[in-house]
Amino acid sequence: MAEKRDYYEVLGVSKSASADELKKAYRKMAIKYHPDKNPGDKEAEEKFKEAAEAYDVLSDPKKRQLYDQYGHNMGPQGFGGGAGGFGGFGGGGFSMEDIFSHFGDIFGDAFAGAGSFGGHAGGRQRKAVNKGADLRIKVKVTLKDVMNGVDKKLKIPRWVACASCRGTGAKDGTSFHTCETCHGTGYVTRVQQTFMGAMQSQSVCPQCNGEGKVIDHACPDCHGEGIVKKEEIVEFHIPAGVVDGMTLTMRGQGNAARHGGVNGDLLIVIEEEKDPNLIRDENDLIYNLMLDFPTAALGGSVEVPLVEGKARLKIPAGTQPGKVLRLRGKGLPQYGSSSRGDELVNVMVYVPEKLDDDERKAIESLKEKPNVVPDQSTVHRIFSRLRHIFHRESQGE
Ligand SMILES: [Zn+2]
Ligand SMILES: [Zn+2]
Repeated sequence: MAEKRDYYEVLGVSKSASADELKKAYRKMAIKYHPDKNPGDKEAEEKFKEAAEAYDVLSDPKKRQLYDQYGHNMGPQGFGGGAGGFGGFGGGGFSMEDIFSHFGDIFGDAFAGAGSFGGHAGGRQRKAVNKGADLRIKVKVTLKDVMNGVDKKLKIPRWVACASCRGTGAKDGTSFHTCETCHGTGYVTRVQQTFMGAMQSQSVCPQCNGEGKVIDHACPDCHGEGIVKKEEIVEFHIPAGVVDGMTLTMRGQGNAARHGGVNGDLLIVIEEEKDPNLIRDENDLIYNLMLDFPTAALGGSVEVPLVEGKARLKIPAGTQPGKVLRLRGKGLPQYGSSSRGDELVNVMVYVPEKLDDDERKAIESLKEKPNVVPDQSTVHRIFSRLRHIFHRESQGE
């Protein structure tokens, strides 16, 4: 697969382009490369599709944010097309239907009207195809699932093709005849005036709703719909590195269509469960470690939780609160890549909240010791090493 161009570059806009600028840029491209203006020009068609895909992503604030963060690596939902290799998740081709679905938004309803571009996809005349509805499910994943990827098996109710009529909706699968109005093509042709001039367009046959055939006797099991609702077990794999809110698309695993059309897609929305110990920061994990004062002062070792199991961590003598200890490669994998984040152990030091008399005396006696209370130069030295905490950049030194 050819290297994909940056979506902003495709539309010729800056990364900070507003919704309005995006719309204007896309409108320009869509007019320039429209298949009706460039008949038979494959390159124009590719450019037309490329612009549509870019606009589809950038015009949706959520997709745009994911794109800005992850680039074409997103894989699902048509991002990056064939970035591929992830189990059963089909790389998203961008169909002409997807493209024209935006035209109402861009050019106003008059232009987008009535699916009039149906016949222009690559110059082929196609029959309208029923598409089953997409099915959206939420799937909860733990950090362990994000770490390793996980196979899921879920029972979901969905529309499937009726067995008795083989999805046709006609009794025994045979009780139908070819539509007289469109002679089975599913389309009727008409001429429409648009801002680009007169265009011959095709619209869905009103007699048969584009199916090309008319049912004589409806199948009794599905009342002529061709589909029945059924609970089915769906198995799928969630790849490592997924992020909360991400949508994975399984092509053709959604609802079946009426009268034997194309299945919708199954959209799997990732919901990440909070971990009791670890906080996720993209691919890094953060663990807040509450260290007792003697261990911080004397050094020692402590156990810290990982996504799986624990690690023993050496605490050097004189460890300050605010110190971050890094467990390299113990974070989460990057989606679609072999790189891995770290686990960051954020050290805090526990100050006792209640003291009995003995404890109070012990601590009071510490105050007299020369190394317990820091002087100014010690403070500066420590702060300069803890770059992430609030401090003035070596002022007055
Ligand atoms: Zn049936
Ligand atoms: Zn018809």
